[in-house]
Amino acid sequence: MKKYNIFFVIGIILSVTLLPFFLVDKIKIIEDKVEDKKEDKKEKINTEKDVKKYVEEEKSGQTIRVRHTKTGEVVAMDVNDYLRGVLPSEMPPSFELEALKAQAVVARTYLYNKIEGNINGQIHKDADICDDFAHCQAYHPKEKIIEIWKGRGFTESQIQEYKDKVNRAVNETTDVVIKYNNKYIKAFFHANSGGMTEDCKSIWNKEDIPYLKAVASLGEEDHKYYKTQNKFTKQEVEKIIREKIDSNYTYQKDIEIIEYTDSKRASKVKIGNNILEGTKVREIFNLKSTNFNIILSDDIVEFNVTGYGHGVGMSQTGANYYAKQGKTYEEIIKHYYQGVDVIKNK
Ligand SMILES: [Zn+2]
Repeated sequence: MKKYNIFFVIGIILSVTLLPFFLVDKIKIIEDKVEDKKEDKKEKINTEKDVKKYVEEEKSGQTIRVRHTKTGEVVAMDVNDYLRGVLPSEMPPSFELEALKAQAVVARTYLYNKIEGNINGQIHKDADICDDFAHCQAYHPKEKIIEIWKGRGFTESQIQEYKDKVNRAVNETTDVVIKYNNKYIKAFFHANSGGMTEDCKSIWNKEDIPYLKAVASLGEEDHKYYKTQNKFTKQEVEKIIREKIDSNYTYQKDIEIIEYTDSKRASKVKIGNNILEGTKVREIFNLKSTNFNIILSDDIVEFNVTGYGHGVGMSQTGANYYAKQGKTYEEIIKHYYQGVDVIKNK
């Protein structure tokens, strides 16, 4: 009995002495697990932060009505949301941020100028602006833009980068517009000027607009349409001229530029007995700009064209070049539209 008692007592003593160690161990394990969970949580918060680092879509607080030309549908949306759909439809999202900002301000100004001119619905009866690039400015809904980008082979991370850039360009210029004498300017722009923009007076109705003068535009040579060439056979030229200008026309090496604008674009072109505006020649021969020369042979008419677009206002290629040189969007805008104010609308 005594022996058992001794073992019993030793057992109890051992248990009492060792128990705390077991317990401590257990407590430690539990604490470790809690720490693990804390770590998990930390990581989750970090990921959420990463997500939040993407630029959020801020509203401008003003609603406008946009008409979809194809469906006839009119959709109400926030001005900044509208501009997020215009910006990548009008300028490559790979361009510099300051160039994109300049384009955002140009697009916003273009919108307000349209709204101001839409007295009694004479431009659009039921909307403020439409999505037709030839009538107003190009606009695509968000989903469509992602679809276009995917179609161009952009990766997921590129798409996120471009979305962020477009958001920043729009958010960081919220309410910024271009005015001249307190009025929204006619914010014309084009892809590539070919080295010199065009005086508005030289091509459209001879209207003299002080902020739409010819200015030098550097860094345009890398654009894929900087130099283009259009060749037509004698028969093709005759067909075009007969259909659109003069039904009796016969080609006799008789096409000649007889007048140039100040920025060396074709202003008047003589074709047989007809004198055409440079813009008309550009239209009927589908040339990239009116900055061209003509080379004639017995059977071929060749147009060598520089630049892309009408050349009035901001050159997008030039804007991107100046942004790369460290110019701000405001400096870029003031270069292309001389004498204007770049100001917040509210
Ligand atoms: Zn329109």
